[in-house]
Amino acid sequence: MCRHAAWLGASRALTTLIQEPEHGLLRQSYAPRRQRHGTVNADGFGMGWYDAARPEPVRYRRSIPLWSDANLPALAQIARSGCLLAAVRCATVGMPVEESATAPFTDGPWLLSHNGRVARDAVRDLADGAESACDSAWLAAAAFQRLRAGLTLGDSLAEIVAHAGAKDPGARLNLLACDGAALAATVWGDTLFHRRTEDGVLVASEPLDDLPGWQAVPERSLLLATSSDGVRVQPL
Ligand code: GLN
Repeated sequence: MCRHAAWLGASRALTTLIQEPEHGLLRQSYAPRRQRHGTVNADGFGMGWYDAARPEPVRYRRSIPLWSDANLPALAQIARSGCLLAAVRCATVGMPVEESATAPFTDGPWLLSHNGRVARDAVRDLADGAESACDSAWLAAAAFQRLRAGLTLGDSLAEIVAHAGAKDPGARLNLLACDGAALAATVWGDTLFHRRTEDGVLVASEPLDDLPGWQAVPERSLLLATSSDGVRVQPL
């Protein structure tokens, strides 16, 4: 299982998901606390954020351990926006370790990350193709296809999880996606938490720190967050 985290709210830097919190993604890359599958997340990392200079998000990803990128701390300090997404990867056995298999995946205004695994046969018919043979890349392609067809973030994720979950009962399908103004996340086989603050909401596979307010999102549910409506959790 990989670990992912996102922020929606007032503008802040990516370092607030990665290096700043005691158990941010930097620490989670080598010492996650709630990870059920895999022990370290050293097979790559990525982050995405939005900037007024371009309609699409900026995405930075590498297939090396997060802690070994000496350029990352400064970049994460200046990369800031009101919508952030970052992830560290523990590749599933049999999946390629390459940049194109590393979250966040992106297309148009969307960013997407996946914690879990799914049989390739359960996702192949969900998308016309993907940038990598990695299961997560197929799930991302499936989501982007639905988003391009006009489905909402929440409906796209819910449809994919229902389809892939029915075809592969052992699938773990925690997806996290955003479009710059809204976040959606599924809980299907792995942990997910959220924490509201005065100026936004954090969503993460596991708490980034020991501050009060982290709430576990129940298994088989969909979390939706927008700046206007706050956070909603509904069953899948
Ligand atoms: N199956 C995905 C991969 O190989 C996600 C792995 C994970 O969640 N650990 O990258």
